[in-house]
Amino acid sequence: MNNRLIFLGPPGAGKGTQAQLLANYLDIPHISTGEILRQAIADNTDLGIKAQKYVDGGELVPDDLILDLIKERLGQSDAQKGWILDGFPRNVAQASFLDNLLDEINQSCDYVVNLDVSDEVIVNRLLLRGRKDDSEETIRRRLQVYQEQTAPVIDYYRNYGKLNSVNGDRLPEEVTISLQEIFNSND
Ligand code: AMP
Repeated sequence: MNNRLIFLGPPGAGKGTQAQLLANYLDIPHISTGEILRQAIADNTDLGIKAQKYVDGGELVPDDLILDLIKERLGQSDAQKGWILDGFPRNVAQASFLDNLLDEINQSCDYVVNLDVSDEVIVNRLLLRGRKDDSEETIRRRLQVYQEQTAPVIDYYRNYGKLNSVNGDRLPEEVTISLQEIFNSND
C-alpha cells in the first residue's frame, strides 16, 4: 500500500482542491489542518479560541496545538488505510515531529508532492477565493510566512528523495491528471 501522501505548496496553489480530488480517487481521508482549525473556530472549541488570532493574522498557529491534533487524527481508524496531509507540516519542526510520530506508529510517508505555482497566480487566486483570512494584508503575511517557514520543508523532503514537483500553473484538470500519473506510475 502506497497511500500516504504529503501535499506541499504555497497558499493558493490549489492544494486543498487537488488534495480532496486525489483523496476521493484513492479513497483515503484528506486531512487539512487549516480546515480542522476553521471548523474548531466556527465551533468555538478550546482549540478554536486559541487558534483564531493566528489564523486571522496569517500567522502559523503554535506547534504544540497542531502536533497534538495531528497525532490524534492519524490515530483514528479511517487513517489506517492511508491519508493525504494538506497544510501540514508547515515548518521544519513539524516535519521532524511527523517523522518521529510515523516511526512510533509504524507508518511512513510514501510521497511528497509540491505544487509549484508562480506568485502572480497565487495572489490572484487568493483574492478571488474570498475566505476570511484572504484580505490583501493577510495574504501578504501568509506568503511571507510561507517563504520563511514553509518553503524550507521542500528541501527537507528533497533530501529524502521523495519529492515530486508538479506544475500548478495549469488548468485544475491538467494538474489532477499529473497527480494521478505520479500514483499510477509508482504502483
Ligand atoms: P490553510 O487552510 O492550510 O491555508 O491554513 C489556514 C491557516 O491555518 C494558516 O494561515 C495558519 O494560520 C493555520 N494553519 C494551518 N495549518 C497549520 C499548521 N500545520 N501549523 C500552523 N498553523 C497552521
